[in-house]
Amino acid sequence: MRLEDLPIRDDLRGMSPYGAPQIDVPVRLNTNENPYGPSEALVADLAEAVRRGAGELNRYPDRDATALRADLAAYLGHGLTGERVWAANGSNEVIQQILLAFGGPGRTAMGFEPSYSMHRLLSLGASTEWVPAAREDDFGIDPDKAVAAIEEHRPAIVFLTSPNNPTGTALDPEVVARIVRAAPGMVVVDEAYFEFARTGTPSALTLLPDHPRLIVTRTMSKAFAMAGTRLGYLAADPAVIEALLLVRLPYHLSTLTQTAARVALSHGRELLGTVDALRAERDATVTWLRGRGLAVADSDANFVLFGGFDDRHAVWQALLDRGVLIREVGPPGWLRVSIGTSEEMAAFRAALEEIL
Ligand SMILES: *Cc1c(COP(=O)(O)O)cnc(C)c1O
Repeated sequence: MRLEDLPIRDDLRGMSPYGAPQIDVPVRLNTNENPYGPSEALVADLAEAVRRGAGELNRYPDRDATALRADLAAYLGHGLTGERVWAANGSNEVIQQILLAFGGPGRTAMGFEPSYSMHRLLSLGASTEWVPAAREDDFGIDPDKAVAAIEEHRPAIVFLTSPNNPTGTALDPEVVARIVRAAPGMVVVDEAYFEFARTGTPSALTLLPDHPRLIVTRTMSKAFAMAGTRLGYLAADPAVIEALLLVRLPYHLSTLTQTAARVALSHGRELLGTVDALRAERDATVTWLRGRGLAVADSDANFVLFGGFDDRHAVWQALLDRGVLIREVGPPGWLRVSIGTSEEMAAFRAALEEIL
């Protein structure tokens, strides 16, 4: 039996699944994870919380994750409360729920590429037509062109990623505000990397009070070093969350996930303590790469897009041959390296130096 022989949906035929290679090498700098594992104290608290909660696992979890959402709102600040926050298994599930509620057959979603490929894939999975618009040469978004594209295509959902993946580019909230005013439907600002932005970069959360069709998504996968927990969340008007309740699976967030996320949040200061080190390592990486004469995009995230390669695959492979896995993604000629520990970055620099 082959996939082509199955009676799958016509619109899924010929598609390939999302998949950054998971290769076991000494230096893994390809999926923007936080390289620092949880502390002994966090592991101990997690184990204790799971032990205490385990006696209740015969019961379904809190369907609305009320306590967790209140904790997430307190972390976000901006006067938010739990009724304006929603959580799911990774921001990917949050985005899927948004598409199920606001996209669907006959509707379109628009994104500004290059950007996070899952916005497109999740749209297609939800039978929502994908309309790509282009970023500028510096990977920013020109607001006049964005407004024109929105007026032409009237998308039900506009995706903005800030800081953008794979380019690292943060958007000015003024640009976001103009797009929200022009958009006939929902606007999602994916802020998966917000905590890594350079000091003074404002969050789109500042726009929420005046823009009820705006949704800001975040994740615990990156800055919070909790990718394995699968916890993503959003902030929006309470009416938006009412819409998501219509499409979420019942009891989608397990008791164990809710517990782990709350314990991690209670260790927030410690977990976010790694962010400053990663930001410094990122800025040093940008400077080093530029010093080697490479093109490097400004980055407000925990990765750096660099390029100018005639054969980027050869460079990617040569790094892998030296035990360093990065990501072949972005426009032709560019590669993306996630920021690891200082030892990992030294290994990356040494390997690249040999190749150049
Ligand atoms: C990594 C990433 C996410 C995170 O997805 P999770 O499902 O929360 O792990 C979301 N958006 C972007 C742009 C990302 O790069």
